[in-house]
Amino acid sequence: MGATGSIGSQTLEVFRREPDAFELVSISGGTNVNELSTIAKEFNVRHIGVSDDHSASALRELVGPDVAIEVGAKGLEVLSSNADIVVNAVVGFAGLPVTMSALKAGKRLALANKESLIAAAPLVEKVRSTPGAVILPIDSEHCAIHQALASSTSSMPYPDVRKIILTASGGPFRGWSKDRLVGVSKADALAHPTWSMGPKITIDSSTLMNKGLEVLEASALFGIEVDRVDVVVHPQSVVHSLVEYIDGSVIAQLSMPDMRLPIAYCLGLPGRLDHSWGKIDFTSGLELTFEAPDREAFPALDLAYSAARLGGAAPAWLSAANEISVEAFLQGMISWQGIVETVSAVMDKYVPTALSSIEDLLENDANARRLASEIIAK
Ligand code: NAD
Ligand code: MG
Repeated sequence: MGATGSIGSQTLEVFRREPDAFELVSISGGTNVNELSTIAKEFNVRHIGVSDDHSASALRELVGPDVAIEVGAKGLEVLSSNADIVVNAVVGFAGLPVTMSALKAGKRLALANKESLIAAAPLVEKVRSTPGAVILPIDSEHCAIHQALASSTSSMPYPDVRKIILTASGGPFRGWSKDRLVGVSKADALAHPTWSMGPKITIDSSTLMNKGLEVLEASALFGIEVDRVDVVVHPQSVVHSLVEYIDGSVIAQLSMPDMRLPIAYCLGLPGRLDHSWGKIDFTSGLELTFEAPDREAFPALDLAYSAARLGGAAPAWLSAANEISVEAFLQGMISWQGIVETVSAVMDKYVPTALSSIEDLLENDANARRLASEIIAK
């Protein structure tokens, strides 16, 4: 799901290299019907999801009558319960129906869409115990943790683990002071030093909100409270994350930055696919450095920790307010610093609320979006 995006197209590259191992049964994308049609023809896909009726009609013209077309969130639900493995590569809260339906239907969920897990963590916790359901993280840091946790002799919440240490590239503004960050441009913020990704996560990486969201993601995925999740800046993006055990041993996973590796890992389990994506040349003078994040210049990180400690609907508010603010920044409506200022102003208005149903979540998501839009309009 989200086949036309950055993770979606890299997933297709893995399939191209493994034509006998996988059959692509369905795809979805937002409104890019030309690309969906091209993918469908290449992989002989008979079931496609788009986000609206207009796109559905346009797609029908391109693919003819024999392909089934689904529309909107309901369509994502249908598609996500009809495959053995579901890759959720939709961006933002729109990925929620994919995460929930795949788990409810007992599927393997290869999850890139962190926003759905973060916002719906208490609800996901309930459905992930469906027989057959499993979440495998595509997000490179969490994929690294998943591999490093194979050294654990315990299970969730991993009492033999002292800390999960997430690495962060630091984004394009690593080392910049708060003053220097005033007025940075869209082009500056979109120029990520080590990863080529979709626009939303690229902006999130520039504010370090992506790392804040990943702290929440790690906690939800591995059942480890956020006070056992640390962040360290590692500009080379080679050590994808680390697990520190209670005996002091630290286990890490390394590769050159290449998302096809974590995608192939999630698709290939319980085995490993034979490829060399992200292969490291250890004789090339590779240097690996680590430093503390600048929490004053990048306050998004601590906002995420606060939301995690509040629990309930707070992570959903954080993620929703951030989505609206990033979009406003990309539209030129607010400054780069306005992104996190807006999220912070929304979180100031948060009243502790439990999440016990999807309806609760949708209401909280809508409220946080409305508040963010009001603050931006002012
Ligand atoms: P992207 O913007 O490149 O692609 C997003 C996909 O979602 C597209 O196919 C788009 O058509 C679809 N989409 C957008 N809005 C939709 C809607 N309302 N309904 C249905 N589909 C919709 O994004 P991306 O960079 O591939 O990121 C996807 C997810 O993976 C995000 O949650 C991101 O945080 C996560 N992720 C991405 C990377 C990366 O390297 N790109 C790395 C780690 C995690
Ligand atoms: Mg990541």
